Amino acid sequence: MIQANDYLLGQLIQKSPSGIMMTGKDGRLKIINQATKNLITLIGDPMDRMPEEAIPIPELVRLFTDSEKMLEREFRYGHRDLFFRSIRLEEGGRLVVIDDISRAKQVERSQREFVANVSHELRTPATSISGYSQMLMEDKEQFDEDAQMMIEAIHRNGRRLNNLFEDLLTLSRIEGSHEVLPEGAISLFGIVQECVDKQQARADENQIQFNVIVSENLMIESNRDAMIHIIGNLIENAVKYSNPCSLVTVRASLRDDFVQLEVIDLGIGISPAQQKRIFERFYRADKGRSRKISGTGLGLSIVKKLADRLRVPIEVRSQIDRGSIFRVYLKPVKD
Ligand code: ADP
Repeated sequence: MIQANDYLLGQLIQKSPSGIMMTGKDGRLKIINQATKNLITLIGDPMDRMPEEAIPIPELVRLFTDSEKMLEREFRYGHRDLFFRSIRLEEGGRLVVIDDISRAKQVERSQREFVANVSHELRTPATSISGYSQMLMEDKEQFDEDAQMMIEAIHRNGRRLNNLFEDLLTLSRIEGSHEVLPEGAISLFGIVQECVDKQQARADENQIQFNVIVSENLMIESNRDAMIHIIGNLIENAVKYSNPCSLVTVRASLRDDFVQLEVIDLGIGISPAQQKRIFERFYRADKGRSRKISGTGLGLSIVKKLADRLRVPIEVRSQIDRGSIFRVYLKPVKD
């Protein structure tokens, strides 16, 4: 083991490629290495000054004044993308480490653009495959049995492709934009009804009934399109993963300072280990059981991204073969 002396420690801090800043018990800046000065502009001589006097970046100052044990933030500064990690020190004060993640961010952006472009290009042929095969299906009596089977397969797979490209485009659109979603007063009942209507045909095919318990005058403060996407996806999944002849309940109740919306099904359920992963991109729980049910594994990751953007908490309770409850907590409109 290397016995670190003051010289070595000094070199370690000064030559580190990551920016290192540290405040003492009194909250004043005690350590600032060269990499920090290369990454951000400081005001005058920052040593022994309070962070707010020396650092002209409010988001970074906040990382020194927060009392959380550990904080991570990422933001663009000038032409760079920087990643900040702030750690509370036992003796008082904080350590802030800064890394330049511009290259990784650029690769991420290029990948996102590539996926968006490819999805955009492939969406048109996929739409014509599913559209024309749909027309053939409507006249399927004129074909022999083998041809009917082929047309059905073309139609099924055309729709799968379509859904995949739509989901990929939606995901890259959300990930690529940092715009604040405009919020206003909207009728929760109206949104739920619209989402239920969209799933009615699929529900009828499998004799699944809807039970909607949402008061008609319940208003929430949110973004309408995003809410349609979130609630629509949860209801779609509830129908998709239900057994035939079962019930899907959508229930909303006004609590003290939030509205709790639940989408409840009595379907195949999700194990505790899978519950931790269902919001990941492309994750499909238990491929064996859900293989027959078509899906992209992107729906819930889009839901989670949108919910995070709107600061809407979302949680799941589920038991294998008993069903699932997805719960979201919404802002009521205050009178
Ligand atoms: P998919 O397109 O596969 O439905 P999602 O991202 O919407 O993708 O969901 C991810 C996975 O979570 C699904 O593949 C499924 O295994 C599981 N899942 C989601 N909702 C439910 C539900 N209501 N009941 C059971 N499993 C669910």
